[in-house]
Parts: sequence; structure tokens; C-alpha cells
Amino acid sequence: MDHPPVFHKVLIANRGEIALRILRACREMGVQSVAVHSTADADAMHVRLADESICIGPPQASESYLNAAAILSAAIISNADAIHPGYGFLSENADFAAMVEEHGISFIGPSADHIRLMGDKVAAIKFCTGAGIPVVPGSGGPVESEDQARPIAEKIGYPVLVKATAGGGGRGMKVVETPAGLGEALSAARAEAMAAFGNGEVYLEKYLAQPRHIEVQVLADLHGNVVHLGERDCSMQRRHQKVIEEAPSPALTQQQREFIGQLAADATKQMGYRSVGTFEFLFEGGEFYFIEMNTRLQVEHPVTESICGLDLVREMIRVATGAPLGFTQEDVKLSGHAVECRINAENPETFAPSPGRVRDYHAPGGLGVRIDSALYTGYTVPSYYDSMVAKLIVSGTSREACLMRLRRALREFVIDGIETTIPLHQRLIEATEFRDGEYDVHWLQRFVEG
Ligand code: ADP
Repeated sequence: MDHPPVFHKVLIANRGEIALRILRACREMGVQSVAVHSTADADAMHVRLADESICIGPPQASESYLNAAAILSAAIISNADAIHPGYGFLSENADFAAMVEEHGISFIGPSADHIRLMGDKVAAIKFCTGAGIPVVPGSGGPVESEDQARPIAEKIGYPVLVKATAGGGGRGMKVVETPAGLGEALSAARAEAMAAFGNGEVYLEKYLAQPRHIEVQVLADLHGNVVHLGERDCSMQRRHQKVIEEAPSPALTQQQREFIGQLAADATKQMGYRSVGTFEFLFEGGEFYFIEMNTRLQVEHPVTESICGLDLVREMIRVATGAPLGFTQEDVKLSGHAVECRINAENPETFAPSPGRVRDYHAPGGLGVRIDSALYTGYTVPSYYDSMVAKLIVSGTSREACLMRLRRALREFVIDGIETTIPLHQRLIEATEFRDGEYDVHWLQRFVEG
């Protein structure tokens, strides 16, 4: 039962497949949707399908999808009672979340305070340490100078990783193999973080040699009810960016799964967190090490939806209205296996961006196949935004069945006119290491270089 009633109208502060994903959830809940778009996106699918649309600025994201004032004005003009930020853009901007709520509009996500806390990775690590969650050995706080960093790096042992406190998308991260490289890595990471986030603060972590990336999905309401929805394995990465994600992880035992899920759920409850969130860990030698928490919907949320049967966007909207979760941890049943391939408009070998007109588009279908994409025949992929143009999510009763289905779905997928990473995915899923489920976060980099 939806009580109190769901929102009347939701403004979707995003574009591409995630705008469409949110729009679909709204429509299934009987909620009106407002799309916002830049001038480059006037013909975009999310604009075509929304109940209303408002142009918020020129193509550059800084002038449109990151333009908080324009988006808030659009919400006020259209009389929207809530804003869903999706992922990227303003989704982890605490000031934006606060501004939205100050104007009497609901922010469909966590509180500004929680976004701020977890957006500072050093503060997040401190919180988790206090909550009894193991973290990667490291400085535990910001490092200001090479002199301060040197003894810390010696203590944790090389190689070490310099990371940005405000980091995201793998930016501001530098591996240091030997003491001689420390100074340069610190300045390079600082400069990169300053340019990307306007904050040059950095910290140190032990660089793990063979970790897997395991993350836990949590969901909480305003009344202290928290569930975890199992883990996702996102170890298939290039340049610290996820390429393929799967659930459950082929590397965990049921006991490890329950242990890490419970740890994440307990921390969520302790924080008084609301909405969806993801605790990210590195997993090596049977141990989990917290790296960060994402206070938003993740790109890879569909693999979790596929194995737990929930609509996470619907749940986010419901809990934002103040409705209690309609189920408990015991009710959460995970079954089968799901894999997501992120398909980018890029050359599959050089990874050079390949924007342009889609001459022909044909999406695969059939049992267990889901496509989240805003592409259509005749659409022109603009050059201004992230290159991800489709997510192919395939599920099956077992990992093996899922991989067979994934192979046939990739064969059916046609995106002509632009280059895409579909051929890369076809190669990846045939690799022995992937088929055996034995790959770590560094594996793909070696595979594409080799
Ligand atoms: P971002 O927020 O920039 O995405 P994360 O902290 O989430 O950064 O890390 C992204 C990825 O970088 C991880 O999934 C992993 O592949 C790699 N990474 C991060 N920390 C370490 C570490 N200490 N050792 C080895 N790899 C790491």
C-alpha cells in the first residue's frame, strides 16, 4: 500500500538511459514526469516520452545538467513535488539536495548531510572504522605534504595508491610503485582532483595486488527499516571504471555474502540513512576492505533488480514520500544470476569516443534480456556527455545459463553508424578467466593491453 500517497509529479534531473529508467518507474506508479534537457538533447528519447519537458541550457553539462538554479526553476515552474537526480551530474551534490528541500521539493535520495559525509572519502573511512567495518590500510586522513606521506607510505608498504578525498570515476588516483615516485604522484593526483572536483585533498591507501570489487546494495526508509539486497561483483574494470557487473559474485561463499550484507545494513541503520546506497569494498584473500559509499542509484542497479525482483527506483520514490518499506530482510529472496554489459559509443580497441548518427538500431529481446538505453534509429549521439549508450542486462537461473544467454543477446544487438564496445564484450565473455569467474580488478587492463 502506498501511504502517504506517491508524488504527483517528479522532475528527472538527468538524461539518457537513466532518465528513461526513472520515467518508466514514474509512469508505472501513475506519477507525472518532467524531463529537462540541454539544447543538444531536444530530440532525446527521455524528452519524447516525458509528460512535459523543459530546456535548461546549452549543451555543456556545466550550463545545463549541472545548472542547479535552472533545474530548480524548472521544478518550480512545472509544479513538480519531487526531483530524482539519477546518477552522475547533481546526484551526489549535497548543496543541491539541500537547496531542493529548502524550496519544499522532495529530493529522491538521501539527506544532504549523508551525501556530504560520504562524499568526503576520508570522513566515510572514519565513519566505517568507527562502525567496525574493515578499511584498506592507509593514511586514514588527508596527507598534506610529501614529508608527511613518506613515513605513512613506508609503514603501509609499496605499492601505495594516492586517492582524492572528493574522488569519483577513478579520477585523482595514482599508483606509486617505489618511494622515488611518491612526490610526483602526490602533485599529479592533487592537480587532477583540483581540476575535476575543485578540491585537491588526497589520502593514501595500500594498493592491493589482486582485489575483487564487491559492493553491497542497501535500501532504507525514514523509519529506521533497512535491508540489504546482496552484492554485485564489479571487478571487470578499465581505468577504474566498471565495464561488466554481475550478481551474485562468483567469488563469495553464502557465509561471506551474509556477513558483508549484514555489516552494510548495520552501518546504514547506525547512520540513520534513507533511500538506496552502495557500500563498495575490495575483497582479497577472503577479507573485505571498505573503499567508499555511493549515496545514489548506481548504473549497475539492474543486476540487483534481476536477482531480487524489486524495482529499486520505485522503492526510492516510495521511501522519499515517507512510506515504510513493505518488506523485511527475511522477505528478500535472491535467486538466479544476472550480468550487465555497459555498452559505450567508443572504438572497441582504442576506446576513442564515437559520437554520431545511429543508422540502424535493433535491440535483442526474449526471456531474461533487458535493455536500458535511450538509443533509436536516426538518433544522433551527442559528443558532450558520457559515452555509455546502452546497458544490456541478462539473467538466468545459473551463471552458466546467464552467460549462454548473454552471448546470444550480444549477437543480436545491432547499433550501426557509430562504433560501440559490443565487440569488446563479445571477446571478454569468451575469456577463460571470465567464464571461470576468476578475474580481479586489474585483469581487464592487462587483457586489452595484451
Ligand atoms: P572512484 O570513486 O574514483 O570510483 P573507488 O575508491 O571507488 O574510486 O575505486 C575505484 C576502483 O579503483 C576500485 O574498484 C578498484 O578497482 C580500484 N582501487 C581503489 N582503491 C584501490 C586499492 N587500494 N588497491 C587497488 N585498487 C584500488
